[in-house]
Order: sequence, then C-alpha cells, then structure tokens
Amino acid sequence: MTAPLAYLDHAATTPLRPEALEAMLPYLTDRFGNPSGSHAVSRVARRAVDEARDTVAECLGCEPGEVVFTSGGTESDNLALAGVQRHRGGTVVCAATEHHAVLHAVTALGGRVVAVGGDGVIDLDALAAAVGDDTAVVSVMLANNEVGTVQPLAEVAALVRRLAPGAVVHTDAVQAFAWLDVATLAAPAELVAVSAHKFGGPKGVGALVVRSGVVLDPLFHGGGQERERRSGTHNVAGIVGMAAAMRATVEGREATVARVGALRDRLADGLLAAVPGAVETGPRAGRVAGSCHLRFPGVESEALLVLLDDAGVCASAGSACASGAMEPSHVLAAMGVPRPEARSSLRLSLGPTTTDDEVDLALKVVPEAVGRLREG
Ligand code: PLP
Repeated sequence: MTAPLAYLDHAATTPLRPEALEAMLPYLTDRFGNPSGSHAVSRVARRAVDEARDTVAECLGCEPGEVVFTSGGTESDNLALAGVQRHRGGTVVCAATEHHAVLHAVTALGGRVVAVGGDGVIDLDALAAAVGDDTAVVSVMLANNEVGTVQPLAEVAALVRRLAPGAVVHTDAVQAFAWLDVATLAAPAELVAVSAHKFGGPKGVGALVVRSGVVLDPLFHGGGQERERRSGTHNVAGIVGMAAAMRATVEGREATVARVGALRDRLADGLLAAVPGAVETGPRAGRVAGSCHLRFPGVESEALLVLLDDAGVCASAGSACASGAMEPSHVLAAMGVPRPEARSSLRLSLGPTTTDDEVDLALKVVPEAVGRLREG
C-alpha cells in the first residue's frame, strides 16, 4: 500500500502513537506473562497492568478499582447497558444519534430511543418523557462519531437524577477522549466507555469506568478477571499501550485542540467557499475540534469517496461501519437532514498528526472531485 497523501479519517481510527508502541513492545516479546498467575513472569505482567490501571484511572478521573479493561468501545458500551440491565432489570434509554454499539444494544434490550434536535443535541423534553421509575440506564454519548456534536451530559445527568433517581447514566466517550477533558465532563456519569484506537492506542482494547456502588452482571463467564466484571486473559500489551496513549493525549490535548481546531476551521471554511451549495452539518461551536462534516447537494458520497481515494485523500461518508452499506446515516436522519442530502455527506476527521499539507491537498482535491461529479 502506498501511504495516503492526506489521512482525514481519524474518527475511524488513528495511527499508533510512538509512545504507545514503545511501551507495548516489551509485552509483545520477553515480558509475555499472564498477569493472573503467581510466579515471577506473571508478576512482571501484573505490575504493568496495575500501573496502566493507575494511569487510566487518573486520565479518566476515577479510582483504579473502577476501571474495567475491555476489548474496546463496543464491548464497553454493551457491558454498561446489558450488564446493568441484567443485574437489576428495567429499561435502557439512549439518544437517537448514538453509535451502533449503543443504539443496537438498546434495541436488542428492548429499550427506548430519544430524539435529538436539528443541531444533534439530545431533546431534553423528549428525554424527560422517556425516563421514569423503570429506567435502569440512560446512555448519552459525550461526542458524536459522525458530526462531532458534544452533548450536555451534566444536564442529562441532572434530569435523570430528578426524574429517574434509580437509574445510572452511561456515556460513550470513545470519540470525546482525544479532544475533551473526559475526567471532568464525564464526572456526572456512573459508566464511561473509551477505546484506545481512537486516541493513538492499539485496536482491540478499551475500558469501562464503573463507579463504585454500580453493580453489573458480566457479559462473559470465565476466570473472573477484572473483579468478576470481565473474564478473559488480559491484553497486557494493549492495556499498556492504551495507558501510554492516554497519558500522551492528556498531556498534549490543549495544544492539539488549538492547533487542529484552527486547521479544521481552515478546511471547512475553504471548502464552503470553494464548493457552491456546500452545507456544514450542525453548528461548529458545539462540535469537537477534529470534526469537519459537510454536504455537497447533488453529489453521491460513495462516488466522491472513490475520487478522493484515487487522489490520495482518505475520508469517510459517515461512520466507518456504515460506509459500504448505502443506507444513509441514522445520525443525519435523526437530525432531520433530508435523505438525498444525507447521501451527499463527507466526513473529514482530523487528528494530532494532521498537517497543513494534508489540509491543502483536501482543499484542492475535494472541490475538483465535486465539480467532476456535478458535471456528470
Ligand atoms: N462508540 C463510538 C462513538 C465510536 O465511534 C466507536 C467506533 O467507531 C465505537 C463506540 C466502537 O469502538 P470500538 O471500535 O473500539 O469497538
């Protein structure tokens, strides 16, 4: 594979941070122990997992004992929703723009889905009408994976405390962690999901914060790791890599948000100016810094993505899982974007490694590609 000239799909996944790779390598080679064992080789691995747990807890604003290591965002979301519901019964509730890891779990668990406004922000009146004494979990993501909308989690949690005091709040912070101070913003939630590969860690590892006092039934039965909450031999290298990526993300976050936010603004403003009829999705102020979501009426996003790919620009039409399927995004539908327009959308997601040159290339290639497609 020749390297893309512009990788603008950081919401799908991010390149591994050098700090993460370096931290992981010993645990992929000579420090191979199983942390659940009792001998010297195991102890080396256990110490690494314990240290990673301390780092992850610090970065997420919780106690080390409240961190449950998982295989990623999908498992963390499912564990939060199904785990609590299995333990105590009741209904699960989520916003209509949640990632499928939450939305499909809520549907499978017979739960309720709450509307959002045209700006992608959850409708608090609709949420108030959907929760009550039978509610077990309310799940509202911190930042959206397609359009980057940041949700008012503190208001959501306050509403839940008032109207459904027996319920717990879960937040999918998978897309938020790279950009937002999750330790503070997710503090009102009892359950918080993150995934390493969205912030420069390896794929296939994540965490769920389960605040003390919240009890959930495990999804897997087995060796009883993670204090009986998640059985399965620890992914030691992955956990160590996630912790290193978390630390680096938190340390650089403020500067990254400022730098990448300015790049995103240049990209969005440039494309809006260069492409007639281009529309930006949702108010930019309420979105995370790396998110640029535009619609080009009259252009099919699948065709646009092919031309961009040919020109070395990696982008996406919606969430990575949805592209390839021609169904327009459920997020845009929930925001009231008409179907044909939703099918003309382009998600350009930036990250800490994004350069001026990548943005320059996109500013040249996207208008040319849209122009070609419109000419037919
Ligand atoms: N939640 C959100 C908001 C996501 O963007 C994603 C991945 O795209 C997930 C959950 C799933 O995470 P993972 O890929 O680690 O299973």
